[in-house]
Amino acid sequence: MEVLYNSTRNNGIQVKASEAVLKGLSADGGLFVPDHIPALDKGLKELSGMTYQEVAYEVMKLYLTDFTEKELKDCIAKAYDGKFDTEVIAPLVSADGAYYLELFHGATIAFKDMALSILPHLMITSAKKNQVKNEIVILTATSGDTGKAALAGFAGVEGTKIIVFYPKNGVSPIQERQMVTQKGDNTYVVGIHGNFDDAQTGVKKLFADTELGERMNRQGFQFSSANSINIGRLVPQIVYYVYAYARLLAEGKIAEGDKVNVVVPTGNFGNILAAFYAKNMGLPIGKLICASNDNKVLYDFFRTGVYDRNREFVLTSSPSMDILISSNLERLIYRIAGNDAKKNEELMKALAGEGKYEITDEMKSRLEDFYGNYATEKEAAETIKELYEKTGYVIDTHTAVAASVYRKYEEETKDGAPAVIASTASPFKFTRSVMNAIDGKYDRMTDFELVDELSALANVPVPAAIEEIRTAPVLHDHVCPKEEMKKTVEAFLGIE
Ligand SMILES: *Cc1c(COP(=O)(O)O)cnc(C)c1O
Repeated sequence: MEVLYNSTRNNGIQVKASEAVLKGLSADGGLFVPDHIPALDKGLKELSGMTYQEVAYEVMKLYLTDFTEKELKDCIAKAYDGKFDTEVIAPLVSADGAYYLELFHGATIAFKDMALSILPHLMITSAKKNQVKNEIVILTATSGDTGKAALAGFAGVEGTKIIVFYPKNGVSPIQERQMVTQKGDNTYVVGIHGNFDDAQTGVKKLFADTELGERMNRQGFQFSSANSINIGRLVPQIVYYVYAYARLLAEGKIAEGDKVNVVVPTGNFGNILAAFYAKNMGLPIGKLICASNDNKVLYDFFRTGVYDRNREFVLTSSPSMDILISSNLERLIYRIAGNDAKKNEELMKALAGEGKYEITDEMKSRLEDFYGNYATEKEAAETIKELYEKTGYVIDTHTAVAASVYRKYEEETKDGAPAVIASTASPFKFTRSVMNAIDGKYDRMTDFELVDELSALANVPVPAAIEEIRTAPVLHDHVCPKEEMKKTVEAFLGIE
């Protein structure tokens, strides 16, 4: 059955999957959502015998219904290949009573590779299907990981250009180095004076700028988004939850139909939304445990039904979760409003205006699949240290927020069901924070000394993504005020 995509702000807008992938965001500012969530059409037993790529096909074909089998299988084959340093793509590691789903074995050693390695191929295929002649300009705001993963995905892909904005002082030194050393003359990396929300707001404004859009179109360009609002990001993320369940079943860790809880360190709400979709497709997921850091807007939201971004923005050691507006939450709001675009639009207007909104009691009652909590900096650091000392397994700062929240959940509820914790970054990406958590003595060392130290301590080889940037030259050094993002884009594209 064909899946079409509606805007969360206008039910009258309905497009095919390939059009939704190309557009990224709906013209009315809404997000594209499937008009129904398809059910898995293969049994769990059958899925448990499949490779990652095969599971990817079984899941994605249900959403990208206007792609042919060959088109989709080609995209999957090009995405999940030797760029990943393990054949299983997303390994499950058992440590201290939980299963860590390692989503960081791709080109940039963070979970965004899972979707961004396939998105460029989905986009090029979508462009061909829709007779698009313009060059696709990817515009992205990043809190660190998306930027590099998108750059790595799109670099050198013919018919595309990519421009990435990041908060100049809001990403880790290794994240920044990864971005500014990016090769490929279709890539452009810019630091802005501002935080991630400023970058994201600026990018949204550019997308909504119809005057700029018309000028670009005249000169053979059109924008698209690689941000986590694109359904071409969301759909590939559903895959690894199905795959993780299938692996647990294959390894005899669970019986068919057993409920498994999922714990997700959350920022923009894309990763956990994918788990929610997986559950609604029939995957036996119990609770969706939403873990926040000190920017705990989502924890407050699940507790009170009030989403309120009016608060201090805290810089933490899990920067990819330092977010006060979780864009993908809009898709959940739309759904719990009973697919009511008017209601959703009203709430999103309140968010844009007053910076807050409150959902109705009825909507709140539809959130029972979710459990929200948060971990402080201290709690996350203690979790890294304790897990390492107990098991020898070293996790990154984002995953530590999830592991810490999972402990709180277990203490509160005594649930006892098996849990899959989404492990969203390699500890090598946040080496200083990780090593400092284990022992204060490491503070004196340089970043690259710490990398070698971590490798020895965790007994894990230094990932290729880190080796590469040790000596790579800086190719991007552009910095601009947040007010000048438009000028910067025009200059890069050479449009008048
Ligand atoms: C992006 C990111 C997150 C947050 O994921 P969302 O889908 O935005 O909720 C968590 N951890 C890491 C390492 C990330 O890069």
